[in-house]
Amino acid sequence: MFVDEVDIRVAAGAGGRGCLAFRREIRVPRGGPSGGDGGHGGSVYVVASPHVNTLINYRFHPEFDAQRGGHGEGSNCTGKNGGDLELPVPIGTLVYEKQGDGPPVLLADLAKAGDRVLVAKGGRGGLGNAHFATSTNRAPRKVQPGEPGEEKHLRFELKLLADVGLVGFPNAGKSTLISRISAARPKIADYPFTTLTPNLGVVKLSDDRSFVAADVPGLIEGAHGGHGLGDQFLRHLERTKVLIHVVDVSGATGRDPVSDLDIVRNELEQFQPALAAKPQIVAANKIDALDDEARAVELEARAGALGLECHRISGVSGAGLPQLLEAAWRVLSDARASEAAAVDVDEVLPPLPASFSR
Ligand code: GDP
Ligand code: MG
Repeated sequence: MFVDEVDIRVAAGAGGRGCLAFRREIRVPRGGPSGGDGGHGGSVYVVASPHVNTLINYRFHPEFDAQRGGHGEGSNCTGKNGGDLELPVPIGTLVYEKQGDGPPVLLADLAKAGDRVLVAKGGRGGLGNAHFATSTNRAPRKVQPGEPGEEKHLRFELKLLADVGLVGFPNAGKSTLISRISAARPKIADYPFTTLTPNLGVVKLSDDRSFVAADVPGLIEGAHGGHGLGDQFLRHLERTKVLIHVVDVSGATGRDPVSDLDIVRNELEQFQPALAAKPQIVAANKIDALDDEARAVELEARAGALGLECHRISGVSGAGLPQLLEAAWRVLSDARASEAAAVDVDEVLPPLPASFSR
């Protein structure tokens, strides 16, 4: 299982200070106390959002402070409450609190969209002097400070499933590609196959668009090796929504790009027809070293005949990668949307009889 993990610090806002003030009015020689209370500090919540897929943004931005409460003011005006802060995380995120050297303590398992946990409570505002008037002290010069907000060190943990799988022959350039396109590498835990470790990368297109790509070795290597290796890796591919065929068009391997694509597609089909039915994109890789234009053109023609889009890329020079990633995102979003639409329908009724009229 792949685990994405980030450590962050959150601080709730402090409460505002209570105010020291006295009424001053015409014809009222000694006005009573009128200092308002401080506002409450903002709290910090963590919320499971269906619009977030990875924890990657927290790697770039690991500190969060909610607003402090406003100080109380004269004329019994209470200070403004500080705004709360909501940190969106992917569904399935575990939220831990880290305390000293001890093991992190689980605060919440945000399993459903909208699940929400308070992680740092804002400080209460202090009381203004208006609260402290008594029969013996009508002009109290006492105020309360606001309470500090809670500060916590948190760990978010998310078990990742790859959204996009990279498939292709050994040396097609899958590992190079994933290291080029992914900004962060989560740790890989408990993976039983240490010799054939899948690379997993979080690909970030923009602040609100990221996905997880897996370079799955062993599809071809393990498929003929027995011991169910190929099956194990294919199980990972089963959960992906889009496949990218990485095909070497440089001629370095001496193989033919068209037959490489056909062989891999055939392998997928044989292992599991559902895999072969997934949306696919072809990446004609290593165009920086393309010596024979015909190899790329033929691959494009084959992809076109299969109804697949084909992008010329180079994992080494970076050429064509933005276009490939945008295409992957588009296909992935479509796949997610049709999945969501499919689960919205509880029951499909038989068609209405032809005689039916509204
Ligand atoms: P994998 O087996 O599919 O993971 O392939 P690798 O990423 O390990 O790459 C295999 C070989 O191809 C390595 O020597 C890479 O340096 C080389 N390679 C990968 N991508 C490119 C590319 O875009 N252009 C060129 N010229 N070589 C590449
Ligand atoms: Mg590799």
